[in-house]
Amino acid sequence: MRKVSIFGATGSIGQNTIDLIRRAPDAYDVVALTGGANIARLAADAAALRADVAVTAYEDRLPDLRAALAGTGVEAAAGQAALVEAAARPADWIMSAIVGAAGLAPGLEALKHGTTLALANKESLVCAGALLLETAGQYGARLLPVDSEHSAVFQGLAGEDIDAVERIIITASGGAFRDWPLEDLPDASLAQASSHPNWDMGQRITIDSASMFNKALEVIETREYFGVRPEQIEVLVHPESLVHALVGFNDGALMAHLGAPDMRHAIGYALHWPERQDLPVERLDLARIGQLNFRAPDPARYPALHLAYEVMERGGMMGAAFNAAKEQALDDFIAGRIRFTDMAAVTETALERMSAERDLIDAAMTLDNVTRVDHLARQQAARAAEERIG
Ligand code: NAD
Ligand code: MG
Repeated sequence: MRKVSIFGATGSIGQNTIDLIRRAPDAYDVVALTGGANIARLAADAAALRADVAVTAYEDRLPDLRAALAGTGVEAAAGQAALVEAAARPADWIMSAIVGAAGLAPGLEALKHGTTLALANKESLVCAGALLLETAGQYGARLLPVDSEHSAVFQGLAGEDIDAVERIIITASGGAFRDWPLEDLPDASLAQASSHPNWDMGQRITIDSASMFNKALEVIETREYFGVRPEQIEVLVHPESLVHALVGFNDGALMAHLGAPDMRHAIGYALHWPERQDLPVERLDLARIGQLNFRAPDPARYPALHLAYEVMERGGMMGAAFNAAKEQALDDFIAGRIRFTDMAAVTETALERMSAERDLIDAAMTLDNVTRVDHLARQQAARAAEERIG
């Protein structure tokens, strides 16, 4: 039996991972499940999967979790230290599906124990890609991509020489507002931004898809994972979300990866890698689909996208600053403090100010320093948001 843990088990990726594991109960021994405020879901899954421990990120919810787990034999724990402790428990495979920079510390801890980390939490790669890869190398651990585009690239590269790669194209659906008149974007509501045309995902990544911040993170994620140069990475708007990525080789060949927009494809690939196993996903009927469309992303509609290239050019820990500023701007949009289009403007202002913090941005990439950059960038973004509100 393979020992597995799922971080962010109560979220969209976590639930899809549990769905796959539940289909083969004899194959997996579940060590830890973690979640946030949804104690009922966390406790029910932990009991059903006979996990050793269930952890909520919130310390004040420990009594609720204990009560929900009473009599199940599952241990209850809470708080950031408990999350890291759970990541240190021996496991063969850990799903990293916490949303945001909060996923970094547990992911890093898992790698220090040589565990294979299936990484949905792209934010940790954006914040500290070099640190994660270096730690994985040092402890003989492996990082497997779970983001659909990166799983697609990873599959396209199987058996290939990375030096023969000319370019990597990741696709974007264009999000909720791809066909809106530009002048309506400032008035886009939270509910409108939270509905995705093709994918069913957590609220934060759904809004990040509408603003293209998600693709901006993924461009940086591509650079970190595959070690290609920024100018080799392209983004293509593809409204059908059926081609997830394409790898272009030096002989002009483009290898495309297609699949239904169902995250169990990428999760299952990472779960069974290096093998392929049957997955309960829809098989595409291309004759029925008929046509696939592609277009270049419009910079006026998606100002967040070019920030990724500026961040990569600046280097150092700008990725951590970018992710944190974006998370803060998203919090402010969700709370109704700023408008949809303010998110890119606020993040850009915060990045300009963070760029002046040369010593901090160019310091050694450690978890402490990444955390420092993260905190300062959130403050800068909050300040920039207040200035915009006036
Ligand atoms: P979600 O909001 O549905 O779930 C997030 C999970 O993280 C929940 O279990 C929540 O309890 C937990 N969590 C939230 N804040 C936390 C904190 N501060 N500390 C500890 N745990 C916390 O999110 P999701 O859509 O499942 O996305 C998870 C990750 O996967 C994100 O990094 C996202 O970018 C990435 N991803 C998601 C999809 C998708 O289809 N949903 C696709 C590609 C990548
Ligand atoms: Mg993706």
